[in-house]
Amino acid sequence: MQEYTSCHWLQHGLSFENDHIEMCCLCCHKGGGRLYIKENYNGKGVKWEDIFNLKEKFIEQNKNGEIDPRCDGCFNLVHRGWPDDDKHYINYIHFNHWTHCNSDCIYCYTSWDKINYQRRKHYQVLPMIKDLFKKKLFRPGGEITFAGGEPTILNEFEDLTNFLIKQPEVERITVHSSGIKHSKAIENGIKAGKLSVCLSADSGTREIFKRVKRVDKFDKFWENAEKYAKAQEKSENKYNVETKFILIPDVNTTKEEIDKWLDLTVKCGIKSVVADIENDYCRDLRAKDLPKPQFLVDLGNYIIQRTKELDLNLIDYNNFRYLTTEYHLM
Ligand code: SF4
Ligand code: SF4
Repeated sequence: MQEYTSCHWLQHGLSFENDHIEMCCLCCHKGGGRLYIKENYNGKGVKWEDIFNLKEKFIEQNKNGEIDPRCDGCFNLVHRGWPDDDKHYINYIHFNHWTHCNSDCIYCYTSWDKINYQRRKHYQVLPMIKDLFKKKLFRPGGEITFAGGEPTILNEFEDLTNFLIKQPEVERITVHSSGIKHSKAIENGIKAGKLSVCLSADSGTREIFKRVKRVDKFDKFWENAEKYAKAQEKSENKYNVETKFILIPDVNTTKEEIDKWLDLTVKCGIKSVVADIENDYCRDLRAKDLPKPQFLVDLGNYIIQRTKELDLNLIDYNNFRYLTTEYHLM
């Protein structure tokens, strides 16, 4: 065991991005991330040995105190003891395909160029993932996350997710979904107690759903949310289905909208919610060095109070946490 500053993604992580693989998906800190493992990746031709050799190179730099400037300011960097032997394994995987989505959220960065994003191709990751498990290079203790773009509409999503659920080494899978398409594999994972799904509601009424998502799928969303909640009844874990609300000032920031969102969530049988604030809005506040707006602080506290009263588990994502605590906005 040697003490030095490093991070778990650099040591054991992989992030599959649209046309490349990176060490992690973090890019909002000062250094901006983007530690490439393979550029122009199309699902083929990466050797595990090369990946671990590259990780080794970065780890050696960290041991010498020469942290890559792209990691500068990242909250994942920690100074602690890191095991020296037996370190060639993966236990953090992020799938971030950023291609298609069946929603068109006004705050999503794909909305700047939606047509091109919808045309982007995505490569198949399942062969590489199967190889990872066949070679016993995946270890328990980390996490597997599906994020940007809509995972459920990828043609390998069902097979990939069902494969991961069946692997004994996999303890936890998180899927971020628009909730517009129902997935049997997500249901299987919920029933197995291994998968949690975070459904992007951002509203409690059809009108605001349409305004934020720019698709008329409000009923479909709640129909699917209810199906996932029913699947959860068969699992021991009662917090594997969440609805998420991103506060977007001047769009959905009223107590009435919050109340309707929470009421629908409870009515479906869901016991967990996620709250956040639109990232660009927070970035602007930070850039202009403005104080936290009082109406948002009040609304944040209202969400905390209402979730307590309704016995809902509240997960506060970073911007929300900074809003409702002593800290400044990120
Ligand atoms: S320190 Fe941050 S940016 Fe650097 S590899 Fe780790 S997670 Fe990525
Ligand atoms: S559901 Fe996610 S990926 Fe799709 S448009 Fe909304 S924020 Fe973007």
